[in-house]
Amino acid sequence: MGSVDIALNVIIVGAGFGGLAAAIECRERGMNVVIIERYSDSNSAGDIIDFFPNGGKIVKRWEGGNVGKELHEIGADKIDVMELRKFDGTLISNIPWAINQEHRDTTYAGHRGNLHGCFFRCVQRLGATIVLGQSVKEYMEKDDAAGVRLADGQEFWGDLVVAADGGRSIARQQVLGLGDEKEGSGWAIFRTFFDSTEKQRSHPDLKEFMRTEKDNVRVWMSDHLSMLAYSWNNAEQVAWVLMHPDDNDIPESWSLGAAKEDMLPWIKEFTSPEAQALFEITPVGRTIDFKLVYRPPLEKWTSKNGRIILIGDAAHCNLPTAGQGGSQAIEDALTLAYCLQHCNRDVPLATEITQRIRYHRSNEVHKSGKLTRDSFHKVSWDEIMQDPKRWGQKRFPHLRPHDALETVSSQFEVIKQEIESGKNGSLDEVAMPLPPGGIFMTGDH
Ligand SMILES: Cc1cc2nc3c(=O)[nH]c(=O)nc-3n(C[C@H](O)[C@H](O)[C@H](O)COP(=O)(O)OP(=O)(O)OC[C@H]3O[C@@H](n4cnc5c(N)ncnc54)[C@H](O)[C@@H]3O)c2cc1C
Repeated sequence: MGSVDIALNVIIVGAGFGGLAAAIECRERGMNVVIIERYSDSNSAGDIIDFFPNGGKIVKRWEGGNVGKELHEIGADKIDVMELRKFDGTLISNIPWAINQEHRDTTYAGHRGNLHGCFFRCVQRLGATIVLGQSVKEYMEKDDAAGVRLADGQEFWGDLVVAADGGRSIARQQVLGLGDEKEGSGWAIFRTFFDSTEKQRSHPDLKEFMRTEKDNVRVWMSDHLSMLAYSWNNAEQVAWVLMHPDDNDIPESWSLGAAKEDMLPWIKEFTSPEAQALFEITPVGRTIDFKLVYRPPLEKWTSKNGRIILIGDAAHCNLPTAGQGGSQAIEDALTLAYCLQHCNRDVPLATEITQRIRYHRSNEVHKSGKLTRDSFHKVSWDEIMQDPKRWGQKRFPHLRPHDALETVSSQFEVIKQEIESGKNGSLDEVAMPLPPGGIFMTGDH
């Protein structure tokens, strides 16, 4: 990929998918990378995560395709369709998982911890410095450098800091001066992942869902609830998530345990024998309740001097219903690394071009999470069953094919010239516009 003349020193806060992708993209371009993460290991928490081709195509280029191959080996790569069903099991629509072979090759899904481990090992192989078990407490910026201070007082300085510190980012407040604006409390998601036993796999009502020749994805919808379930790797791995009203106003946490009996009022609405059986075989103690919080899009992603930039969930905290949290973070990472490689050490220029390229696209995806979450609410089943395909697309819209590398390589010079010729204003005004026809394959988003 070529390298910059004097390697830039990049400090990344957060080793989630966004931070790890930024580390990989920057290392592949010859920059020096230090990545700081508050967890003490490559965190294995979480259940199921998907990367769709807009992110997957970037991953597939890493290390000549090795990372993508490994993701397919450990994840779900035999999904044909996502079966969208009514709460009682009636089929609404089969939504194609991939629209063509290229789409299939660049779509990854699987256990979040396993896929995360795969990214993490790639960062290790590429030689980034990884500092684990340390929390960043303060972001700092001068005219010619940016840095962070850790809880133990240690400081790290570099040419820039990438704040990939997730949904509850402290950079938002410290770097952008914004409060933690959030809305949408009132919903949460029960989430689980477990390795299935042979006995569980032979449950009479789970023959279809646990078939081994395919990996399986089912979604059951009721009026205001949805349950999404996966089985993969010969049905030995199972995950499901159930979105439900959150009467208790629980905190945001990836480890807040939920008792099975607390789920009963919601589960009983899914009368499909398959959904009931899946709940029945779910081991006790394996389920969490995750608060669904909507944080509106930010007005900007960069600091005053342009040497700190927020990416991933820190910049645009996608709702899981958009299915794009990981992929959008990877698009940010690639775009930023490309701009840094070509900015001739003008870091503020690189971060400015990055946010101008990413702003409208990422906001559009971000907003879609809300639209898809609410798509079946207050719509009669008669109406849905009259045009099930359209409703399926509304709930799970495909993004139009998009190559973030092509975009940044064709737009870098254009936007650089716009900046140099004084095109200023809010990001809403100056950022790269969306393509005609929008970014989704249906007209509904
Ligand atoms: C533990 C965990 C489990 C998850 N499980 C799922 C899942 O099952 N399914 C799903 O769709 N999505 C899951 N997500 C969210 C998903 O990974 C993200 O939405 C998406 O990949 C975008 O990634 P990100 O890197 O921007 O943010 P995140 O994945 O949230 O990563 C942010 C990272 O920054 C670290 N961090 C935060 N603050 C500091 C600080 N001050 N100092 C140092 N480090 C800091 C966090 O520990 C975290 O590792 C999970 C996230 C986490 C953190």
